[in-house]
Amino acid sequence: MALERTFSIIKPDATRRNLTGKVLTMLEEGGLRVVAQKRVELDQEKAEGFYAVHKERPFFNDLVAFMTSGPVVVQVLEGEDAVARNREIMGATDPADADEGTIRKALAESIEANSVHGSDSLENAAIEIAYFFNENEIVG
Ligand code: ADP
Ligand code: MG
Repeated sequence: MALERTFSIIKPDATRRNLTGKVLTMLEEGGLRVVAQKRVELDQEKAEGFYAVHKERPFFNDLVAFMTSGPVVVQVLEGEDAVARNREIMGATDPADADEGTIRKALAESIEANSVHGSDSLENAAIEIAYFFNENEIVG
């Protein structure tokens, strides 16, 4: 086990339904600690850059429209095996496939409006954290 940092977003479907606190409680009770956090609105360029890896996928334009449709909370989470732990707490991309007790099972509206983002590797976590935060904004 290693102490890691991962990047997380509370997506617009969750902020719209006033579920920010519920998401945070599930992350914290799952063993993760918020070490940086801000509420922002993504513009098209920022959202397209963030999801650039998906730009050839058929859902890319809809995904960018969704992610710019309202406020998001971007955050850095710290904990033992934080990258994998966060993905466990989130659940599968499609809420229909997500395990009981996960954020997406409990809260997500659809495969697109699925309430949370989480980095899929330690390498991508570092890239995504740097896309939103300066080192001096992360306070462990
Ligand atoms: P995850 O967020 O679980 O890592 P992906 O990286 O595969 O999932 O996809 C990024 C985001 O794109 C998803 O969280 C979801 O919001 C959206 N998405 C993924 N697959 C689809 C799909 N088939 N239709 C619509 N939106 C999708
Ligand atoms: Mg992903």
